[in-house]
Amino acid sequence: MLDCAIIGGGPAGLTAGLYATRGGLKNVTMFEMGMPGGQITQSSEIENYPGVFREGMTGLDLMEPWPEQCKHFGLKHDMKEVSKIRKNGDTFIIEVGGEEVEAKTVIVCTGSKPRRANFNGEEEFFGRGVGTCATCDGFFYKNKEVSVLGGGDTALEEALYLANICSKVYVIHRREEFRAAPPTVERVMANEKIELVLNAGIDEAFGDAMGLQGVKVGFTDGREQLTLDTSGLFVFVGNDVTNKVLKQDDDSFICAVNDYGEVIVDLNMKTDVPGLYAAGDMRINSAKQVVCAASDGAIAGMQALHHVLEQS
Ligand code: FAD
Ligand code: NAP
Repeated sequence: MLDCAIIGGGPAGLTAGLYATRGGLKNVTMFEMGMPGGQITQSSEIENYPGVFREGMTGLDLMEPWPEQCKHFGLKHDMKEVSKIRKNGDTFIIEVGGEEVEAKTVIVCTGSKPRRANFNGEEEFFGRGVGTCATCDGFFYKNKEVSVLGGGDTALEEALYLANICSKVYVIHRREEFRAAPPTVERVMANEKIELVLNAGIDEAFGDAMGLQGVKVGFTDGREQLTLDTSGLFVFVGNDVTNKVLKQDDDSFICAVNDYGEVIVDLNMKTDVPGLYAAGDMRINSAKQVVCAASDGAIAGMQALHHVLEQS
């Protein structure tokens, strides 16, 4: 039986593995269906991980040493996709590749994915001008004009964040009414740097080998197509939590989740099921940053260690 099973090998899962093994747990396996590193490995530039401030640092560069460090302290990596976690009395069963693995504790770190809006050029320029994280990439557009797509709380809050850094922010939204909370809408309306582009969608994102150069905006009310020469476009059209491993046969979740499918945890990353922890982007109120995911993982790893020691 495993002392601890970690599901997902991004910053949260790897750090959980580091703390659990270095803290003394002997039998810890991280199930990561791809190469360890997580979604930050898709990023061409990261400059907000503390202590890392190097020209041209990619997400892949940042994550490259993490698995080796974990392996050194005894973390095993099983490159398989977990299909389900279920309870088995005081322990857990991990269903993976047609097999069942028993574990005393489980740390789930499967992340979440920002939704795509599916306009022409979105994939081609993703990571090269098109992004889904203002905290990560906003600074790259300091004193430049950017566009934001979406009309929910995330889009408007991030537009306000970007307005602090950028010279102008166009908010492109497909309706006239906003889904975001009224006070947020009022703050956006009052912000002189934000221009609303309503009843509108993106027909096409265009650019060249260097990256995005702008977007062509189409209107649903018959106005002529508009070209915005913004080299940064932030897409905020919702988010999908990767939580399917928590789903049970009757479609319920093994632990409590909120309306958006984010796992409800306390400050120790504990779910409402003893021995089950969630860390990183998939948990409630996650800041969706590498440093925060790593911190969550460290806390969850230490908690799993305490749980095993208490039970033995
Ligand atoms: P993830 O990194 O999403 O890792 C989850 C892992 O779980 C994945 O590797 C996945 O393969 C695995 N997995 C999922 N389901 C299963 C399963 N069923 N079985 C086995 N494995 C599974 N953050 C910053 O701090 N600064 C930045 O500049 C920055 N830039 C970013 C740029 C881009 C393009 C992207 C996409 C993200 C960026 N982020 C940035 C956000 C950062 O990457 C995330 O906050 C962080 O990776 C979350 O870590 P995590 O471990 O919670 O989840
Ligand atoms: P959301 O509320 O689902 O909003 C998504 C927005 O994107 C909507 O305005 C939607 O338009 C638009 N959209 C969706 N698909 C699109 C497409 N293909 N093309 C163009 N536009 C598209 O998502 P969210 O803003 O990420 O928020 C998720 C949840 O978290 C919400 O319940 C939100 O209240 C909550 N949240 C709360 C806070 C806070 O309380 N401070 C902060 C962030 C998020 P329509 O409006 O026309 O559908």
